[in-house]
Amino acid sequence: MTPRAWTVGVDFGGTNIKVGLVGPRGDVAATRVMETARLRRPDAFVDGVAGAAAALAASVGVPARALRGIGVGAPGPVDSERGIVNFLVNVPGWRRVPLARLLARRSGCRCVIDNDANLYALGEWRLGAGRGARHMIGLTLGTGVGGGILLDGRVYRGAAGAAGEIGHMRLTRGGPRCGCGQRGCFEAYVGTAAILRAGRRAMRPGGAIARLAARQGRLTPRVIGRAARAGDAAAREVWDGIGQWLGTGLASLLNVFNPDCVVIGGGVANNWSSFGPAMRRAVRAQAMSVAATSARIVRGRLGDRAGILGAAVLVWETE
Ligand SMILES: [Zn+2]
Repeated sequence: MTPRAWTVGVDFGGTNIKVGLVGPRGDVAATRVMETARLRRPDAFVDGVAGAAAALAASVGVPARALRGIGVGAPGPVDSERGIVNFLVNVPGWRRVPLARLLARRSGCRCVIDNDANLYALGEWRLGAGRGARHMIGLTLGTGVGGGILLDGRVYRGAAGAAGEIGHMRLTRGGPRCGCGQRGCFEAYVGTAAILRAGRRAMRPGGAIARLAARQGRLTPRVIGRAARAGDAAAREVWDGIGQWLGTGLASLLNVFNPDCVVIGGGVANNWSSFGPAMRRAVRAQAMSVAATSARIVRGRLGDRAGILGAAVLVWETE
């Protein structure tokens, strides 16, 4: 394999920084995982990531400068064109950091960066469940709800790089409080906090949710998912409610963008069998029929490699 065949993808998360060596067909050959807490500051991050990339390149016998490039997905608003991280949602100390330039200088190879949800969509489109789509929307379900919009196979970034914040699409005036300070955002209805709120309301002493939560030591979306799959009616109702809100949000997205594919990933998507039917019913009932029938709505396929692969795909797409 020629040296240029290798790309490094970086998944910059609130807890861990995952650095992966990616082959030309999207295979992850090796990874390094570092604690975000130890590399919080931009200069420490650049040193740590450049070091990991060099070590990964060395493991296949090439110098870092012979890589196709390094891509980074960052958890916050990014000016991808200029390579600047505007700020990070859960990591303090990052204000308008020219990350692409700093990392390129330190590593000796080309560096590109984008918001992690945009890269989720890009990765699933090129290598995962969205392959072959022309217009695709990617959603990640977790504590936050991330979104990426691809139109004609390109990330749609908007006027200031701030497009695709699907989690903060307003579903109602008023409504539950969102992490962004507003009320009634999509995320406030389908994010982890909303699932836990509904789960606590559905919990009965001696019921399946209460028993599984006690065994786990706390209530989590996973516990409510397990209770639902075991047939517990209260848990199934929780996921039905989440599925309905997901369908409501998706119906608006389908009406506005008329995508041919929507890919849904993130940890909460592991409960697909529990929320999927209600979500599809709500989409059929609420979206305009042409928009509803032309979109396939599918679960993501890249799993926990999605961050690394999306970042590598950005390197390929910007060559
Ligand atoms: Zn919000």
